[in-house]
Amino acid sequence: MATAHEENFSVIILTAATIVKNYFQMLLDEPNALTPDQVVAVLNESGDHRVILVCEHASNWIPAGFKGLGLDALAQHSHVAWDPGALGVAEALGGAMNAPLVFGCVSRLVYDCNRPPEADDAVPAVSEVTAVPGNADLTAAARAERVDAVYRPFRQRLEQVIGRAPADAALVTVHSFTPTYHGQKRTTEIGILHGEDPRLADAMMARAGQHTGRCVRLNDPYGPKDGVAHTLDLHGSRNGLANVMIEIRNDLIDSKNRQIKMAQLLSGWLREAIADLAPEVSS
Ligand SMILES: [Zn+2]
Repeated sequence: MATAHEENFSVIILTAATIVKNYFQMLLDEPNALTPDQVVAVLNESGDHRVILVCEHASNWIPAGFKGLGLDALAQHSHVAWDPGALGVAEALGGAMNAPLVFGCVSRLVYDCNRPPEADDAVPAVSEVTAVPGNADLTAAARAERVDAVYRPFRQRLEQVIGRAPADAALVTVHSFTPTYHGQKRTTEIGILHGEDPRLADAMMARAGQHTGRCVRLNDPYGPKDGVAHTLDLHGSRNGLANVMIEIRNDLIDSKNRQIKMAQLLSGWLREAIADLAPEVSS
């Protein structure tokens, strides 16, 4: 039979174990437990800041505390969770241009870093045709936690990198899109998008035919009306930097080799388009 002392000791051990378990559970369940280094990363930070690359939708990582947002493995790996191939292109482009690359490390389903906090689709309850149970009926507090845990550190880190850029630098964001959307095949292969400042997008469109035989369209398959120019406007236009968003159909960049080839194409194209802006910028 246990003595009173032994029973008290058991209670203390059990209580301590519960506190430790709850603490780790809280860490897993608490978005704010994410550190800034877990939500945003920078490659080639010592590179040439005349071009700053951004890839907001680089990762499909859903931190454990979000329990996969209630999605099956297939959905978690599909384009609804990220932009497949975009990071590979952006990395290779950063290498080819010696440019810093700022990229998101958390799935856009947790928080879409190319959307402001007030946008409904910053934390989408439905993405294309996929319902996201973990985002349904979020409280304002839970939504605000994601803003603080993912959006703000991403913005701060990007602004820090841009702070080292010269006045005539260009901001270039790299994305990919799915070949079939809502059952419709998309014929656009590369989309060149702009927000408030169309200069670099227009310069790229003017030179498209010299660099590629691909089907290139302006503001397609998305455009400013879809709210996709958030990063461009906030970090590009408002800092006076020329900017453009490049959307690549993801079947064109489904291997490392194809990602590198796409980056080579884009680097020459971008260099010329940026050079075309120079007289305008210096005048
Ligand atoms: Zn994207």
